[in-house]
This record gives sequence, structure tokens and C-alpha cells, in this order.
Amino acid sequence: MNKMKYLMRSASLLFFMTLLLSSCAQQDNRAHADPAGQIFVDASGDTLEMIHKTDEEWKAALSKEAYEILRKKGTERAFTGDLWDNKKKGVYKCAGCGLPLFSSDTKYRSGSGWPSFYQPMDHAYILEKEDRMLGMVRTEVLCRRCNGHLGHVFNDGPQPTGMRYCINSAALDFEKEKKGKKD
Ligand code: FE
Repeated sequence: MNKMKYLMRSASLLFFMTLLLSSCAQQDNRAHADPAGQIFVDASGDTLEMIHKTDEEWKAALSKEAYEILRKKGTERAFTGDLWDNKKKGVYKCAGCGLPLFSSDTKYRSGSGWPSFYQPMDHAYILEKEDRMLGMVRTEVLCRRCNGHLGHVFNDGPQPTGMRYCINSAALDFEKEKKGKKD
């Protein structure tokens, strides 16, 4: 009986150790900021500076539409952006700082009139914040590196995540996949 108890205890200890180690390993592969929040390390290990600009600098750097959305939390009208119906293969980057945010592999037709994805390329590349504007409770999606407003995320998306990242076209730059690229 005692031997059985010992075996059970060892097995559960081993289980928790495995769980702990696998969650640490997952975190290592993800982008993160240093404790001061100034340096951004992307998934491939490259170090990127966080982007901080004054309002005037952002205004000068961005198109009028991108500025209104990224810096003023605006929303483009549905079915008016360049990318809601884009079916090409490639990567959608932040129009403010160039961080790769979404892959065409996770883009789907939501019927909303905005580019829709069921997941970001890496959850560490985005910030999600509660948004109580317009009398609704929504979840705002921001770029992790430049803090630009991208859109919102809803839980009515398709599998495998069930999430719908509803992102403004003007907050994104699309980079088409180069021909001959091997997966
Ligand atoms: Fe950004």
C-alpha cells in the first residue's frame, strides 16, 4: 500500500514538473520586452527598439488614415479598406512600426468588411485591452511595439481559436510572399 502511495506521489510530481518545464519552454520562444519595457525581442531572437514618437512625429510619418486609426483609435468604414478582401499569401505588418502581426494563413472571410484573422502571428506581438468606449465593452487590439491601435477582437471567430481579430486595413501594411519560398 505504501509503495503504491509512493508511486502515485512520484507520478504526480513528474507530471507537474513536465507541465512547468513545457510552459517555460513555450515562453522562451515568444517575443518579450525587457523589464524596463524598452527593448523588444522578436520570436527569431532579433532585438528591436520599442517605438516612441511624439504626436507630431506620428502625424508626419503616417498617412492621414493610418494616423487616425493607429494614434487616434479611429475605425475605417467597412468595405472601404485596401485589405479586407485581399486573398494573396503573405504577412500583414503594423503600418506604424513594421512588426509582423498577422499571416494570410489565418485570414478568413468574416463578412464584416474589415480584414479578419483567427489569431495573431504571436500573442506577444499584440496587446489586448478592455475598451468601454461607445457604451460597449469590447477588447481593443494594439501593436506591442509601437502601441498603435489596430482594431478589436471578438469571440465569434472560426476554429481552431474561435476568435475574430477585426483589424483596420489602414493599420496594416501587406507584404506579399515571395515566389519560390519554401515552407
Ligand atoms: Fe506597431
